[in-house]
Amino acid sequence: MLRPYVEFLRSIPTAPDRVHREGQCPFCGGLPWISARRDGSLMEGARRMLGCALCGGEWSFGRILCPVCLEGDPAKLPSFRNETHANARVEACETCKRYVKSIDLSEDALPIPEVDDLVSLSMDLWAVEQGFTRIEPGLAGL
Ligand SMILES: [Zn+2]
Ligand SMILES: [Zn+2]
Repeated sequence: MLRPYVEFLRSIPTAPDRVHREGQCPFCGGLPWISARRDGSLMEGARRMLGCALCGGEWSFGRILCPVCLEGDPAKLPSFRNETHANARVEACETCKRYVKSIDLSEDALPIPEVDDLVSLSMDLWAVEQGFTRIEPGLAGL
């Protein structure tokens, strides 16, 4: 009877000595520097993945949830986009004033988060002007 439980434990990569918070990397406890939306199966719809700034791993995370303060009210979680960078978005949280850059990888397969992040740097500048702070900086240091 215990077997499914043990198999589940084995299936998740755990770093045993770290205490993890929701919103942090389940492997190393790092914070997300990027959020990516990908097509899942038809049953799941597009999934939101967070990319770890420390170990480069990624994990799936709720679409309406702030990775920092775990705010779950959609009214407090605005996402901003502009015409120039149609597949990049700023997913902000009004409660803790942090944001994560979100890249849409479901519309075409080409975008590479690192590249899209750099190309859409103006969105970071804009977000900072609005008083938001990025959870973890991207390659450009913003
Ligand atoms: Zn990590
Ligand atoms: Zn928050």
